[in-house]
Amino acid sequence: MKSNSGFQNWNQPYLFQELEDILKGFTESQRREIIPLAIGDPDLPTPVGIRDAMVRSLRDNYFGYPSIEGELKLREAISEYYFQRFGVGVAPDEIFVGPGAKTDLFDLCAVFADPGDTVMILDPAYPVYRDAALFRKLDICYLRGTAANGFQPPVPEDMQDADSAALIFLCYPNNPTGVTASEGYIQEMVHYALKTGTMIVHDIAYADFKPGNSAPETSSIFSFAGGDRTGIEVGSFSKPFSMTSDRISWVAIRNPVARKLWRRYRANRDSGVSQHIQAGALAALTDPGVQTQVAENMSVYGERAAALKAGIKAMNLTVSGLENSPYAWFQSPLPDSKKAAGIILKQGKIQVTPGIGFGPAGEGYLRATIFQPIEKIRTALSILAQLDFNQPIE
Ligand code: PLP
Repeated sequence: MKSNSGFQNWNQPYLFQELEDILKGFTESQRREIIPLAIGDPDLPTPVGIRDAMVRSLRDNYFGYPSIEGELKLREAISEYYFQRFGVGVAPDEIFVGPGAKTDLFDLCAVFADPGDTVMILDPAYPVYRDAALFRKLDICYLRGTAANGFQPPVPEDMQDADSAALIFLCYPNNPTGVTASEGYIQEMVHYALKTGTMIVHDIAYADFKPGNSAPETSSIFSFAGGDRTGIEVGSFSKPFSMTSDRISWVAIRNPVARKLWRRYRANRDSGVSQHIQAGALAALTDPGVQTQVAENMSVYGERAAALKAGIKAMNLTVSGLENSPYAWFQSPLPDSKKAAGIILKQGKIQVTPGIGFGPAGEGYLRATIFQPIEKIRTALSILAQLDFNQPIE
């Protein structure tokens, strides 16, 4: 059987075989003790208004195939969201409702690059950009983020005059670091993209995830001069609205040529997103009751974020994130993040993500989420503070 050789370049199943092996060694009751702080899946429930809208839609309608672009009402609501949230005009026909940002991001690599083209990817970053590029046989130029450049890495010197980068993947607020980008930084990237004919994919999956409801401001790519020509923006309903199971997102494209290509691709590639899921997304953006419940959820997340940050700082480890993101991005107690995560799992029965999983520049960091009740987060912190990182893992 033949297969895409891009598979070989992906991470092992479930990111890290070593951590999987530790899990396999646990008894059933040991597994039940594990505090899972690795996966970015909101634990607070989907607001009732969203669920009610989905149920009503299923009960009251028979739908045939959905439209490729998405229901006009939902696209109008996303257009209004752009205006209210970022002060930018994005027309409903510049918006495509999608089956989850993960799928959209993967597909963007297929539409806007050819095998052998270069893509620039933030490092560290959400691993899907890298996996999509590897699968498509694209060359990757990592934009190396460090604490010193505020995880806003510039285009490398030797790529400054290149005309070959097909795509740049940016993500602010960022997973895993939680940082937001300065306006100057994004404008600089847009200038570079205009100069080289590159498209920027700006992933705003966390733009509305605000633990404590007082996150620093974030921007749309369309807020910047030239962003309408070079920008493709990917938004997701998953995290702020606890809609990870519903698989719904959007791609906004203002450049008419790029938009035509994306429409053509979507028309051949899939048949749109189920209408009742779209009804839920419409309620997410328009039902005031949903907004209230999201704000309540964010207050709960805010308390957890404050506890997690304080606990990590008390261990004298540097930490960022948790203002615009559900993640603490913190200094690993050992330079080898996989080894540290292994000790934390084996000795402490706590799952965190090794920074190396987000790219080479993530080495030396760990990522922990706030998607567990505050008592569990506190328990995890007190266990973490007592672990002995000099012990070898048997
Ligand atoms: N973009 C980023 C940066 C993410 O962290 C995630 C999920 O963790 C996604 C996109 C995927 O979102 P969706 O659930 O819409 O596929």
